[in-house]
Amino acid sequence: MKPFEYISAKTINEATEVLKVLQSEARIIAGGTDVLIELRRPNAKTPQTIIDITSIDELRGISESNGSIILKPLATHTEIQKSNIIKKYAGLLGEAASVIGAPQIRNRGTVGGNVMNAATCADTVPALVALGADVTLQSVAAARTMPIVDFFIKPYKTQANPDEILTEIKFQKLPRYAKSSFIKLGRRNALSISRLSVATILLYNDAGKIIEARIVPGAALPVWQRVTEAEQILIGEKPSTKLFEAAGKKVSEVMISFTGRRWSTEYKEPVIGALVRRALEKASNYNY
Ligand SMILES: Cc1cc2nc3c(=O)[nH]c(=O)nc-3n(C[C@H](O)[C@H](O)[C@H](O)COP(=O)(O)OP(=O)(O)OC[C@H]3O[C@@H](n4cnc5c(N)ncnc54)[C@H](O)[C@@H]3O)c2cc1C
Repeated sequence: MKPFEYISAKTINEATEVLKVLQSEARIIAGGTDVLIELRRPNAKTPQTIIDITSIDELRGISESNGSIILKPLATHTEIQKSNIIKKYAGLLGEAASVIGAPQIRNRGTVGGNVMNAATCADTVPALVALGADVTLQSVAAARTMPIVDFFIKPYKTQANPDEILTEIKFQKLPRYAKSSFIKLGRRNALSISRLSVATILLYNDAGKIIEARIVPGAALPVWQRVTEAEQILIGEKPSTKLFEAAGKKVSEVMISFTGRRWSTEYKEPVIGALVRRALEKASNYNY
């Protein structure tokens, strides 16, 4: 790693003022669990300045307001996992945070870093897309908010400009009766990044029929998005293994329509289908 200047910003304004001048020559660091690994690579481009944002209090916290949950980017995965607000109103996000890395990574790694890094395997992202979150970016000149589903251009590439900092992630609380789940498949059970993952949300009516469904696979499509073709299969139906299998099959078909058939399809095609079925079963506590 080559030498660089280190700045510990105390306010959002202080950080964005430096970004305004240095643009891509500066790099923000939060928990550092992605940045430091990247900078230690032999051919990594070392920025002129690293801006540490962990002392900016305005960027901390998880709160609720007027039916929404406001997640500040420095919320760590451990904080999200333990948050009662998240447990009550966004269970799938807590589940996603709880399976990231190991305790040490969850204690340091932040949701803001996970979103901004935009790795295919980022575990909080499918959950945030399913929740319909908005992200807010701030520069010296202005703040702008956009749906997270529009934020990602491709893996590791977002709509954020070099002079912008992520300041907020906001989404509507799920109704208390909503059922949700997040599951991931890695190469091993512990400390493993996602090969594939699935976030689901289901709303049932009093008759036990599904009235709303959201399914977002991770690491399966070019960018994260809901698979509405599969969601539609569930609407108006009662849960069953057959139904959930049909939704899973539709997700694999949609995946292949994007990616074409390649060397990994033989594996991914049945596996994403099975993961979707399992995620839907988990969300519904369905006894299969
Ligand atoms: C051993 C190990 C295991 C891991 N396992 C998983 C896993 O299972 N699942 C998973 O999803 N990830 C995993 N990760 C990746 C990483 O821990 C997460 O992506 C984490 O959330 C990154 O957060 P951070 O605060 O450490 O980000 P940093 O490394 O500090 O930053 C990541 C990127 O985001 C930018 N950034 C950070 N905050 C902001 C902000 N507010 N505004 C603008 N830009 C910002 C940085 O400039 C950088 O480009 C793992 C990492 C390691 C080292």
